[in-house]
Amino acid sequence: MIDGPETTQTAPPPFDGSTMQDRPGTGAAAATKLKADLVVIGAGSAGLSAAAGAAMLGLDVVLFEESEMGGDCLNAGCVPSKALISAAKYAASARESGAYGVTSGTPSTDWAKVKSHIQKAIATIAPVDSQERFEGLGVTVIREHAHFTNPRTVASESTIVTAKRIVIATGSKAAIPPVPGLADVDYLTNETIFDIPDLPDHLIILGGGPIGMEMAQAFHRLGSDVTVIEMDRVLAKSDPDHAAVAARTLREEGVTLLEGHKAAKVSAEAGVILVEAEGKNEKQTVRGTHLLVAAGRSPITDGLALEAGEVASDKNGVKVSDKLRSVSNKRVWALGDIAGKGQFTHLAGWHASVLVRRAFFKQGSTSSSLPLPVVTYTQPEIAQVGLTEAEARDKHGDSIDVSSFAFDENDRAIAEAKTAGECKLIIRKGKLVGASIVGEGAGDMIQLVGYAMSNGMKLQSLTNFISPYPTRTEAVKRAASAHFTDAVFGKPARTLVSLLQRIP
Ligand SMILES: Cc1cc2nc3c(=O)[nH]c(=O)nc-3n(C[C@H](O)[C@H](O)[C@H](O)COP(=O)(O)OP(=O)(O)OC[C@H]3O[C@@H](n4cnc5c(N)ncnc54)[C@H](O)[C@@H]3O)c2cc1C
Repeated sequence: MIDGPETTQTAPPPFDGSTMQDRPGTGAAAATKLKADLVVIGAGSAGLSAAAGAAMLGLDVVLFEESEMGGDCLNAGCVPSKALISAAKYAASARESGAYGVTSGTPSTDWAKVKSHIQKAIATIAPVDSQERFEGLGVTVIREHAHFTNPRTVASESTIVTAKRIVIATGSKAAIPPVPGLADVDYLTNETIFDIPDLPDHLIILGGGPIGMEMAQAFHRLGSDVTVIEMDRVLAKSDPDHAAVAARTLREEGVTLLEGHKAAKVSAEAGVILVEAEGKNEKQTVRGTHLLVAAGRSPITDGLALEAGEVASDKNGVKVSDKLRSVSNKRVWALGDIAGKGQFTHLAGWHASVLVRRAFFKQGSTSSSLPLPVVTYTQPEIAQVGLTEAEARDKHGDSIDVSSFAFDENDRAIAEAKTAGECKLIIRKGKLVGASIVGEGAGDMIQLVGYAMSNGMKLQSLTNFISPYPTRTEAVKRAASAHFTDAVFGKPARTLVSLLQRIP
């Protein structure tokens, strides 16, 4: 693959009228020139999966990463947040254990040890995403910022690569809303929250989406006062009934949720952060020691020189079709958060599969060819796959049916005294079009529904297996069975059975 190790004093001419010196990494230093089957910009969930897939197929792959291998998920997203949540669950269990007849003291948090638990989780997973592992797979890994210099070439400080295919997998970062005063205070984002020196006395969170709510519950359980300021309702993308169950739990635990409140102004005085929160009919000032901004995500296109690559983009990221190819440069693919189709590690992984299937095996998968499950890891969890009830009604009108089963009738939930929640299946013409589950372990339960939907199975398939007792997943089978109650036990069935009884 290496065309050399040839070096060059200059990179290919820019396409957007800027001079070479305007561009990072295209200055005077000699650069190695490479040719590759695939160039990947960004070694996060999407880029790593794409690079691994292509390298394992024997293709020449060059991977650029300007920061930590593993991207957001490993270093500042899924892994640290779930490690934090697990510590917080222990604190909650200690508080709740008296109700089960087991008395333990009021939990106290050693924040340094919580952080070390988080770091241990990251360090344990890190080798899978490491430069060494990828080099072992045959990938050329370059730990530098990369940018386009023309539609088929990507360059960094040290290297210029011309490739048959270019993958942009640069991810997203916390969106910073234009709230007056916000830029002048020391706010936290997902990149900094897991490293703060002390547990916050009072954490204010801007944004009541999944990240804000997960962090709110976890920090409150660990001992912080927490106030969430949310313009809309919290967890607005989830089934409203199910979001309400999670919101009620957080409120009962002591988290303050200011729904329908807009952060109008932020300031700081004497180590205190003040946020003016405006509701419909009232205004209040929230005072806290720390402020976390969790108000959505912005695609990372900084310094990519997309115009030089003739790659069109908008506020959601790189403009791609459902096939994940750039609408303006067919050589370019966008995978993961930057593709503007959702921000989940498993979606990034699926995007990489779409690339491998389409580009290398000439198969026809698309970004949306499988239903996407999403999970909010509050306790109780909320898990969703396919359409929500509201989306299904918008799309299919009255032709949908909803069949539910509540956890207060599930024996395992009763035995564990954790009965908040239900499984809700959205059905059309005997097939599942979506499902939402709220409750303990919902993220694991939704897999069954996702599997059935992805493989085009009928709803009936969810009744046609033996579910071990007592498990929470029985609720999925019971919700599916409830849809057939009339058909199985109604008058026609009873008539048929009575006729069949005449057969000796
Ligand atoms: C707090 C939090 C919790 C989350 N929890 C979950 C969860 O539980 N489950 C889930 O599915 N998802 C979760 N996510 C979302 C998940 O982290 C992202 O969807 C996922 O990381 C996206 O992967 P990616 O490859 O698109 O981007 P990233 O993982 O962000 O990787 C992009 C990489 O590109 C690099 N890069 C950017 N520009 C350049 C450049 N020009 N040159 C070289 N390198 C560059 C970056 O340094 C980065 O390493 C969470 C996110 C956050 C913030």
